[in-house]
Amino acid sequence: MRLKDKVCLITGSGSGIGQSTALLFAREGALVIVNDLDEEKGRETVKQIAEDGGEAIFLKADVTSPEEVKAMVAQGIAKWGRIDVLFNNAGISGVGALHEVEPENWDKVMSINIKGVYLPSKYVLSHMMERKEGSIINMSSCIAEIGLARRASYAATKGAVLALTKSMQVDYAPYNIRVNALLPGTILTPFVENYLRTSYDDPEAAIASLKTRQLSGELGRPEDVAKAALFLASDESKFMMGSPLYIDGGVVFG
Ligand code: NAD
Repeated sequence: MRLKDKVCLITGSGSGIGQSTALLFAREGALVIVNDLDEEKGRETVKQIAEDGGEAIFLKADVTSPEEVKAMVAQGIAKWGRIDVLFNNAGISGVGALHEVEPENWDKVMSINIKGVYLPSKYVLSHMMERKEGSIINMSSCIAEIGLARRASYAATKGAVLALTKSMQVDYAPYNIRVNALLPGTILTPFVENYLRTSYDDPEAAIASLKTRQLSGELGRPEDVAKAALFLASDESKFMMGSPLYIDGGVVFG
């Protein structure tokens, strides 16, 4: 078991990649703190982990609210005494070329995707610094490195998360805290299905077109990213610091 008794907080783990990671971490022995804004979805993840024989609790919090995030971190530490791993996974999509993005939508994407990494990190870090131990995984995207049409606000946030990851790594390496980033390509989750449904007249044709951009010829599954998150969370990646890890079927070369 690669995460035996490690306490792992995963934001946005009521769905998609976060949910798949929560299930995998629990199977690897982790005590999982499932966070989501959506209580029903978060509790469903906890239920699935319990049915699988694992241990998890649900803590509802909006990752953009300092009060809620602070309370969530305190509750997690009160329950299990520590937080060993933080996976900043919660995020939303943003669609449109820059001139098409309305200011309120721009602010929302910035807030959830960037402030939503800053706040959980801020409150977990002071605790990890005291213990001189921890692994933080930030969810970026391959869009931080390649241009994709009509994704201006989303691309800006994921580039920022990658830069933030490197900056954090330099600041917290002296505390034995590793900070790495995941850069997935297109992974079939509710997030992507919703984006395809609302952005294309023919979502199936859009999926076929996306596949042609992959060296793999296939789109990814949440489990593909969960396995990479497991690697970054565990000591197996102890020589990785501030690294971008691609899980993209080769899309950056497509
Ligand atoms: P998803 O929509 O399936 O899951 C995201 C979860 O985050 C949802 O359960 C949602 O309720 C939660 N959430 C949203 N706002 C929140 C908030 N303010 N506070 C707490 N929880 C909140 O999405 P997914 O595809 O699993 O994506 C997860 C992460 O992976 C996102 O950061 C996304 O940008 C990133 N990502 C996804 C893909 C992809 O192709 N699916 C590719 C690259 C990166």
